[in-house]
Amino acid sequence: MPLSFFKKLFEKPSAQIHSRDKVVKEQMQKGKQPSTIQANNSSNSSLFKLDIFNSYLSQEEAKCPYCLEKLEKPPTRKRKCPHCKETMYGRTLPVIKRKVVVTEKQRNKVDQYNLIVSELEMYGNDYIKKYREIKNDLKSKWGFEPEDRDVFWQLINKYRINMASSKAWGLYRNATHRMAEFLALEGKLESSLDLYIEVHYIDTNGAGNSGQFHNDETTSEYNFSDLAPALVAKTLDIKEQLNLTDEEFKDRYIKISSITKQSLQFPIESKKSWFKFEKEMKSFKD
Ligand SMILES: [Zn+2]
Repeated sequence: MPLSFFKKLFEKPSAQIHSRDKVVKEQMQKGKQPSTIQANNSSNSSLFKLDIFNSYLSQEEAKCPYCLEKLEKPPTRKRKCPHCKETMYGRTLPVIKRKVVVTEKQRNKVDQYNLIVSELEMYGNDYIKKYREIKNDLKSKWGFEPEDRDVFWQLINKYRINMASSKAWGLYRNATHRMAEFLALEGKLESSLDLYIEVHYIDTNGAGNSGQFHNDETTSEYNFSDLAPALVAKTLDIKEQLNLTDEEFKDRYIKISSITKQSLQFPIESKKSWFKFEKEMKSFKD
């Protein structure tokens, strides 16, 4: 879907963004923290609450988002500030495409929004329509505009349930992966880890989109599908962050896999799935 399609949904002309940037610049020149700029154009018709990014530093400012010292060159990805030694990141905001220099916490927020936008982009008009419906629904229930994370969370949950009822396991698996990523970006590592484990368990079943399994043990050629290395790395990273021992992690893997096996009626035993994962895990440690 072309970007122009999304731009139309926001009604946030770039001129206004730039004028806010100018206000940020002026405030910073006066030595103020640029954190109190309010958007004045939050239209009901816009899809996302992108005004939360108004206070983020533009790359053209070339300043550290922690200590506000001048930088020779803004980072495009990841860099340590030469003044305060904090790690800052270069990112591009979704839809409006403004380039920003952000703290780690801000980076997670930007990445989360980029995830939401790219998911909506991928699934197209029906998905966007549902997103809007959920947003309006929550708004009338709660009496205020919901956070986009709440809207997206409901949307992807509903989608995932639908994929489960139609046994579209590949799509179900992808939605589970997005949810895992989403929670990790919010620092909800315990719940994120369980979802990552579920993805690995599904992968070891070789689950297809028409209810079939490539790794059904009843077939003569019993051969596991490959696990995605980037996802294994992410899972192990979360395991480290949670300080889980190998034993604790193994118990957790088997427990989550058993629950998934039972609730979704998958063929592979949780222990067999674990053996495959363990093998992959060891190849990472070597
Ligand atoms: Zn700094």
